[in-house]
Amino acid sequence: MDNILKVEDLKVTFSNTKNQVTVVDNINFHIEKGEALGIVGESGCGKSVTSLAIMRLLNKNGLAEGKIVLNGQDLLQIDEKNMRKIRGNQVAMIFQEPMTSLNPVLTIGKQISEVLVLHGGVNKREAKAKVLDLLKQVGIPRGEEIFYEYPHQLSGGMRQRIMISMAIACNPELLIADEPTTALDVTIQAQILKLLKKLQSDLGMSLVLITHDLGVIAEVCDRVLVMYAGEVIETADVRTLLRNPKHPYTTGLIKSNPHKSKGIDRLYAIPGNVPAPGEHPVGCRFAPRCEHAMAICSENSPEFVHIADNHYSKCWLYSDEHSKEVSHDYAPI
Ligand code: SF4
Ligand code: MG
Repeated sequence: MDNILKVEDLKVTFSNTKNQVTVVDNINFHIEKGEALGIVGESGCGKSVTSLAIMRLLNKNGLAEGKIVLNGQDLLQIDEKNMRKIRGNQVAMIFQEPMTSLNPVLTIGKQISEVLVLHGGVNKREAKAKVLDLLKQVGIPRGEEIFYEYPHQLSGGMRQRIMISMAIACNPELLIADEPTTALDVTIQAQILKLLKKLQSDLGMSLVLITHDLGVIAEVCDRVLVMYAGEVIETADVRTLLRNPKHPYTTGLIKSNPHKSKGIDRLYAIPGNVPAPGEHPVGCRFAPRCEHAMAICSENSPEFVHIADNHYSKCWLYSDEHSKEVSHDYAPI
């Protein structure tokens, strides 16, 4: 299948007058057309920074290096004027808290119309009918009424649907959703995930879903990247990753997922904390928290090891020289 996006050796550094910190390091991945890719990891692991780099929305202290190739075009090489044309039309993004992205003083109808007029080549007269279509597409009833309402009159779930309608307004080929359901109640979460999945298949979009929750990935995604301390540490098809994780960090994430905690008295927690950017340990960044760590782990950073089709793990346990029999204590979600 063709790739829509290819990220090569992505490194993101933030600097101020005092210091420089690398938040994302040597990230490589691709997304195929129509594929749903999950990016999972604890907060602070670099997931959101990676997506903001793709959108070219890092703040002015952030510098992205490497290549971010969307439809054959390296986004790190084009000027802001052209990037503005790509945002919305080729790649769009939704965030965790829709309230921060919606304008509180404009009606819903006006906000969605603006997107269509500015980026979608739709004139003001045509806009209303198109907005009503979009509202229907994202499962919002009473579109005629909602059109004239303000964001604060809507529930969190409805506001997220509005954000999704604005994101898909110009038919992007790739939608990036950063923790789209984290701020919502569980039942509403499930509805929003179902909507994203449906839109993805109806519109033939590719989807990047960023979350700290492997259960969310299991619902929606085909393939998953696991990130830890600014690096990708494992990648596989979702089923493979959940049933046969190889990296000890992935195993810990699965064990600590609340979806599998039924009947277990205490939820497992990976010992220790994610190191702060700029304080990454030498060698494997997970070594201080890893129960399988060997001498080599705190000396040299492991390479990616090919485990099976599409399955790679950045861990010394699987390199020929250092492998040993490991029985991972995990259970699928
Ligand atoms: Fe653990 Fe070593 Fe593998 Fe890192 S490389 S995850 S420390 S076994
Ligand atoms: Mg985040």
